[in-house]
Order: sequence, then C-alpha cells, then structure tokens
Amino acid sequence: MSFPYTLSCAVWEFTLACNLDCIHCGSSAGSKREKELDTDEALKLCDDLKAAGCGGVALMGGEPFLRGDFWAVASKIRELGMELSVITNGTVRPKDVFSRLKALSPRAVAVSIDAAEPALHDRIRGREGAFADSWSFMNDALAAGLPVSVITTVHKLNLGQLAALREKLKGKGLAWQVQTAGAEGRRFPKKLLLDRDEFYAVGMFIESTRRRYKPEDLALIGAHDLGYNSARLINVSLYEKWEGCQAGVSILGIRSDGGLIGCLAINDDRFVEGNARTTRVKALWRGRSAFPYTRNFRKADAGPECAECRHLDSCKGGCSEMSLMKTGRLHNDPYCFYAIERADGSGPSKMERLRDFFDQCSRPGSLRRLSRVFSGRRRRRET
Ligand code: SF4
Ligand code: SF4
Repeated sequence: MSFPYTLSCAVWEFTLACNLDCIHCGSSAGSKREKELDTDEALKLCDDLKAAGCGGVALMGGEPFLRGDFWAVASKIRELGMELSVITNGTVRPKDVFSRLKALSPRAVAVSIDAAEPALHDRIRGREGAFADSWSFMNDALAAGLPVSVITTVHKLNLGQLAALREKLKGKGLAWQVQTAGAEGRRFPKKLLLDRDEFYAVGMFIESTRRRYKPEDLALIGAHDLGYNSARLINVSLYEKWEGCQAGVSILGIRSDGGLIGCLAINDDRFVEGNARTTRVKALWRGRSAFPYTRNFRKADAGPECAECRHLDSCKGGCSEMSLMKTGRLHNDPYCFYAIERADGSGPSKMERLRDFFDQCSRPGSLRRLSRVFSGRRRRRET
C-alpha cells in the first residue's frame, strides 16, 4: 500500500530573531533561539526535506531577511526543485531584494499588514514607521512583478480595520489572507482575543467580500483553519472542504533550532518529535508513531465541543493549536462556524442542503481562479 501522507509544505522558522515587537506574535520572536541551525546545517536540511519528498518550503521568522545566509538557503530550495514562499514583516530590505527574489520565482512573497491606519499598525507591530516600510515593500514587490500576498492577523484591536484595509488593497493584484490571532505569545493579552461572535464576523467579512469582488480584483481567503463546515459561509477558505488539522499530514513545522513539529502554530514543546540535526526528516515523516494526534485520530479522542458533531469523522475536532489554546486539549475546537451556527439555532439541515446546491453551482470556477492567485500563477495586471 502506498504511503498516505505527502509532505506538501515545510514551514520553517528560519530564525526567531526579529526587528519588530508584534503584540500578537505567537512565538514571541525578538531574540534568536539558542543553538539555531547554522548555514551548513540549514543547507543539509534542504537536502533532507527533498529526500522526504517535500513539495515546498515557506521561510518565515522572526524575520527571515535578518539571516545573512537567506539567499544561499532560498537558492538551494529552488535548485532542489521545491517551491519557495517567503513571509516577511516587510521592514527589512536586503540589497537588490526584489530582483533576487524574482530570480528565484517564488510561489509567494507574503507581507504582514495589520491595519489600514498606519498608527495602529505601528502600535500592533511595536515600531513607529513600520507601516510605511511594509506598505512600500509591498508596492515595490508588486512593481517588480512578484506574486505578493498580504497577511492580516485579526484580534480586538484591528477587527474594525478590515473594511478600510480592503479599500486600500483592492485592485492591486495581490492575494490577501486573513487569520485570527492565538494567545500563545508572551506579549499578547488574552483579553484581545476575538470572542466567538467576533470570530464569526471575520468569516462573514470574507464571505461578503468574496461575493462582492472577483478574485482578479481582490483575492481574499481566510487561513486554512478559519472555521469549518458552515451552512452559511461557503466562500471563506481556498478549499472545498475542511479535512482536519494538517499537522504531520501534509505540513511540517521546523523551528530555527532544528526542532521538528507537526505545525509551528503549536507552541508546545511536548509536540516536538525530533531535531533536524539528529533526525532524518524522511525517517520521522514515514515513522509509524509520528504525529499520532492527527494520523491516528479516533472519535473517542474528541472533547465535549466536538464529540457529538456530525462532521467529526472528517473534521477531527478542528485546529490543534486553537483547540489546545482555548480548551487545553486536542480535538475540541470551540472556534468553529458549524458549532456557532448550531448554538444560535441557525444551522438547520435546510441550510446545509442549500449550501451543497450552491457549492455545486458556483464554487469550482471561482476556486480555480483563487487557487491560481495563491499558487503564484496569477496573471499580471495591465497597469
Ligand atoms: S464541532 Fe468540532 S468536529 Fe464539528 S465541525 Fe466544529 S470543530 Fe469540527
Ligand atoms: S495546528 Fe491549526 S494551523 Fe496548524 S496545521 Fe493544524 S489546523 Fe493548521
């Protein structure tokens, strides 16, 4: 029998060093981790990822451009035939950054922008002038013909900024991903977390925007773990259907010290399953006991939020990180569109039948066009 898990993407915290001080940073970046991988070890890890069948690598931080060997490692990823994505705060500009990125044909260059109001963005990011730097990085990357994405992380401080930010981003030919903040970071006050109504409102914003704008004008998606199985919000993610947490299923997280974990969002050392210095990625990935919380999920593992849910077989209780953060256990994610609709009595089977109907009628073409944008195969805009 063929092996059922394909490593589509390794998300690599290239360094924990960061020049900003973002309030919501899940990994509390700032200083380097102790014993970060050096250049030789990082290059060897690229070979190792390739040997494990990895399709693409996303280099993030901290701030990945703070490492002087960024170009050596990024080039190696591409030489090995893996896709490359870069996630930056947009305030660090290595010399010739755009022409060098262009030469690497990245799948995406993602810049974090958290508010339409510069002062609020600067407050969230912990540095005056951050908005101006990130905004001009985004514009210059677009002008260089790079496939630019903007990532916005939403919490109580900036929920009210989404509509104004949409006005600033539309028509630029970029992709926009909206995600919600978790509370793992040391700097993030829990009182800023969205409540369930606000979380649902983010889904409604994405749904209404996607109905209003064509992907060519503004390609907006929610993060892959933004709510599940809604009867009403059918245009939120990039996927037809949520198929459960992808940690150790199609995604691998790599910490800057070589720690291997199903997903970087799970900021809990108990989930680190090896280290790139001593563990071959292929051996870990194909190991029988690897990533048991997703690969060996059984219905009995679900917590009270999910135990009786009709979608449990496919959903497996939502995002591991959200579930752990909110309830201290896995497979029990309370931030779920389906559960929210059920709780307010608005998720009846009639709605679900309607959803199936509209799924068949309207989604394939639009999803194909969105997929093209988010995979870096977008058409250039005529300007
Ligand atoms: S209640 Fe739990 S299992 Fe059901 S859709 Fe929501 S997160 Fe998934
Ligand atoms: S922990 Fe959450 S963010 Fe990470 S792969 Fe699972 S669903 Fe996605």
